[in-house]
Amino acid sequence: MTAPTPPTGPHRPDVLVVGGGIGGLSTAFALTRAGLRVRVLERAEEFGEVGAGIQLAPNCTRILDDYGLLDEARSLGVLPEAMVMRDALDARELTRLDLSDLERRYGYPYLVIHRSDLHALLLRACRAAGVELCTGRKVVGYENTGAGARIRLADGRTDEAALVVAADGLHSVARREFVGDDVVSSRYVAYRAAVPIERVRGNGVAEKDVVVYVGPRCHFVQYPLRGGEMLNQVAVFASPSADASPAGAAGAAGATGDARWGGPEELDAAFEATCDTVRRGIPLMWRDRWWQMLDRDPVDTWVHGRVALLGDAAHPPLQYMAQGAIMAIEDGWVLAHHLTRTAPDRDAALAAYQAVRVEHCRRVQTTARAWGELWHLEGGERLRRNAVMRARDTYDYGFTDWVYGPTALTPDQEPAMFTPIPLGA
Ligand SMILES: Cc1cc2nc3c(=O)[nH]c(=O)nc-3n(C[C@H](O)[C@H](O)[C@H](O)COP(=O)(O)OP(=O)(O)OC[C@H]3O[C@@H](n4cnc5c(N)ncnc54)[C@H](O)[C@@H]3O)c2cc1C
Repeated sequence: MTAPTPPTGPHRPDVLVVGGGIGGLSTAFALTRAGLRVRVLERAEEFGEVGAGIQLAPNCTRILDDYGLLDEARSLGVLPEAMVMRDALDARELTRLDLSDLERRYGYPYLVIHRSDLHALLLRACRAAGVELCTGRKVVGYENTGAGARIRLADGRTDEAALVVAADGLHSVARREFVGDDVVSSRYVAYRAAVPIERVRGNGVAEKDVVVYVGPRCHFVQYPLRGGEMLNQVAVFASPSADASPAGAAGAAGATGDARWGGPEELDAAFEATCDTVRRGIPLMWRDRWWQMLDRDPVDTWVHGRVALLGDAAHPPLQYMAQGAIMAIEDGWVLAHHLTRTAPDRDAALAAYQAVRVEHCRRVQTTARAWGELWHLEGGERLRRNAVMRARDTYDYGFTDWVYGPTALTPDQEPAMFTPIPLGA
């Protein structure tokens, strides 16, 4: 690598955060709050997020509250009354969470919010805290130095700090350099839409709930956004053409609409047999972009010298548990805690971060895969799943305690997981 170029700001940062998504920004905020000088390097010319919704469970709103950001998030989002799961074919209710009771149990609300509102909130918080925010900085290489780590930008410049956090998402350059694994294609694809509520009134939409319709090789999600003015929709299905395209090719194309499988011509057919409310939602989906459902196998090592993987770069999940961005936010909170606790020993902090987060995220990643399979069952298995779900007591939190409770800071705080119920039960 070439010699470091002078830093952008007046001071050399303690930490470089690569990637200004939800993971990178929330981590930059947490580390700045912990007294570190942080510079964020984002490859895009502007900071931003896709204009769709995101669900934030209590294990995230608890952290937003600790950051002093929950009231603002609450004012921008919606606190739904219930999360309801229905069968996508006959629309019958399978199970539900009472989200007021859930808030009582965990002490923090279940919030749904427009992604760009959450991202903008984090950006404002970073600015106010004094994070140095740089756009147009595409990182293409990493190198450990004696006292820290150095990154190389696409334009040949370099930058360095005592610690580099790689929060550069699913197709992370750092992940490629240090781990070298491939993304795993689930052969499912997601379409999104956020539409004014007037456009869907009369479609049988529940305006105050998060509703998930689970069906054979497909599912459909609806929830309100922006004080109920908008409705967020996600339509996910198994792409019939995915088998013909290698996973690597799809991964290289990225989570956009320009890849070879999952195009809009497959969308309508995938939902043809579903109930009225779902079918009436499908024509409203954005058809110019779609997101292939890719994840990676869990890995045990996220810390490589002074470079730490974080967020989707470390543990990209399938989205079925709605915990991907939350895990990224938790990562930053845990890392900031340990950097404060062990200061000035950064290696000890990184080891403590890895010791607790790897196992938690492995559990979420593997459960998300299993959860997706359960949602998409067909035939007799679908009926058996429905029976098991209908038998669940609404106020049984055995399936959520391990994930919605307080974020563990040490391995001994990580709660036990749920006991799976066999479908034949
Ligand atoms: C359909 C769908 C629904 C979802 N729903 C939920 C949900 O309800 N709740 C939830 O918690 N999660 C959800 N997720 C998952 C969540 O969106 C992701 O896990 C989360 O956004 C990951 O954040 P991140 O900051 O780690 O990565 P990203 O959001 O991918 O951000 C990475 C950032 O790094 C930048 N970058 C990339 N490469 C470079 C580089 N070389 N140099 C510099 N910058 C770079 C990118 O431009 C980007 O800004 C969902 C995902 C999908 C697909």
